[in-house]
Amino acid sequence: MNEKRQLSEAEKQKILAQHGRECFVDGEPIPNDEPIEFHHIKPFSSGGPTNLNNIAPVCKRHHRTIGTMSLQEYRDKIELSKFFESEEPKYLDDLIRYKNKHCGERLNYEIKEGHISLYYKDSKHDFPLYTCPTTNWKYFYGTLPVKFIGNDRELQPRPLREPNLWKLYRHFQINTQISPSICRIDDNGNLLLFDGQHKAASQIWAGRSMVECKVYINPDKRTLKETNLDAHGTYRQMSFYSHELMQKYADIFGEDWTEYMDTKGEKSELGFYNFLFHSKQKTWAQAKNEIALALYKEIVDDKLNKLSKYLSEKHRGRKQPLTFARLKKTFFQYMLVPPPVNDEFESNTYFRKDERRNLVKLMTIIAEEGLEAKWAPERADAAHKKAERIFSAGAIRAWVILLRDTINAHLRNYTDEQRAHFFYRFIPDEEFIYFRQFTKKIFEHKIWDDPDPSGEIAARLAKDDATTAKSLFDEKELNVQWVLGV
Ligand SMILES: [Zn+2]
Repeated sequence: MNEKRQLSEAEKQKILAQHGRECFVDGEPIPNDEPIEFHHIKPFSSGGPTNLNNIAPVCKRHHRTIGTMSLQEYRDKIELSKFFESEEPKYLDDLIRYKNKHCGERLNYEIKEGHISLYYKDSKHDFPLYTCPTTNWKYFYGTLPVKFIGNDRELQPRPLREPNLWKLYRHFQINTQISPSICRIDDNGNLLLFDGQHKAASQIWAGRSMVECKVYINPDKRTLKETNLDAHGTYRQMSFYSHELMQKYADIFGEDWTEYMDTKGEKSELGFYNFLFHSKQKTWAQAKNEIALALYKEIVDDKLNKLSKYLSEKHRGRKQPLTFARLKKTFFQYMLVPPPVNDEFESNTYFRKDERRNLVKLMTIIAEEGLEAKWAPERADAAHKKAERIFSAGAIRAWVILLRDTINAHLRNYTDEQRAHFFYRFIPDEEFIYFRQFTKKIFEHKIWDDPDPSGEIAARLAKDDATTAKSLFDEKELNVQWVLGV
C-alpha cells in the first residue's frame, strides 16, 4: 500500500467496522487466524493524507499479488478477465449490457435552427449544432447516457480487445479523456458509436453512466465508412502478428521467462501462465498470447524452417504466398496444442521441443514440395499459378486440415486426445517420408490445374473461411481416402 503513514489500531478498527472482516477483492471472510492487511480502494494519486474512506481490508493472498493496482482496479481486472474468458468475441454492446443492463435504446431528438434537442431523463437537453465545411454534415458534442449507445457494426465490425481495454481503463483512472468517442445518429434515434470504442468501453467498465461523444446527424454512411478506414489505415496495416510486434513480444517474453525461471518449484507452461497473471499483472488472454507468440516465433525463426522464406513480413520486396496471420490461422491453429500445457519442462531453454521440431519439418516439406522452384511471381508461369492456387487463403486452411487428418489416420490416432496432440510427441524421421508423400499427393491433385475460365474455382479457394474450399475439396474427391490411396 502506498501509505504516507501507518494506520493506527483505532483507524483499523474503524475501517473494519465499515467493511467487516472480509477481503475487498472477492468478499470472502478473512479467517481469524490470518492477518488482515489494508490497501487503498481507488488509486492513490493525490498524494494527500490517507483517507480512511479510501482504505479497505484485504486478505494476505490477494495483497501479495495486487502489485501497484488499487483494490478497485484489481477487482475490475479479475472481472474483466472473466468477461473475456470465453472464446466468443466481445463487442461494445456486450460490455454495455453487462455493465449497464440497457443498451442501444432509441434517443428522441429534434433539430432546430442551430441546435439539437435531446429528450432523456424526463427533460430536454439542448446542444449547439455545428456544420462540417467540407461535407456539410451536422454534428454536436455531448456527454450522453450509456443506455442510448450501441455498437456501429457496419462501420466498426471489430470486437473489443482485452489488453487495449485494460490499458485504457488504467490510464483513465488517473488521466482525463482528451478526445470524445465518435458516433452517428440515424433518423430512428439509434446512436451508433463507430470510433473510440475502447475509450468508451473502458470508461463504462470503470462505472461511468455517461459517455463523451461527438455525434454526426445522419451522415452519408458510405463516405463515413471510407473516411473511417482511411483514418485507421496505418493502424489496420499494422497486423497484430507483424514481425516487429512479434519481436517486441519476444523481448517481453524473455524477461518474464527469466524471472519465472528464478522462482522455486517445478516449471511448466501452466506455471508460467499463472505467474504472468499473478505476479506480472497480465490478463489471462495476455498470458496466453505471450506464450503462443513465443512458440510461433520459435517455429518461424527456426533456421531449418524453409517455409519462413515465403513470409511477406520476413522477406519484403517481392510478392510472397504467406503471412504470419495466415500461419496463425492454419498451421498454428490446427497443428499445435493451444497453450498452456501442464507438462514439466525438460530444460529451461526448450519447451515443446518435439512439437516445434515436427512442425518445422513438416513446414519445410511443404516449402519444398509446393513452393521451391515453383513460386515465381516475376515469371507468373503455370507452375507459379498452380502454387498461387494452392496457397490461396481458403485452400491453405482446407489442405492443412486435410494433411493433419491424413497424418492422424496414418498414425492410427483414434482418440480426440491423440488427435489433438499428434505433433506434441516425438515422431521418428521415417514417418516424415510418409508425410512428404501425402503432401506431394495433395499438391498433385487436379484441383490445382483444372481450367477455370469463369474464375469460380479460384474464388472458392480464395474465400477465407473454413467451409468454402472444403466443400470444393469434397466435390473433387480430395479427401483422406484419396490421399492415403485406400
Ligand atoms: Zn482476498
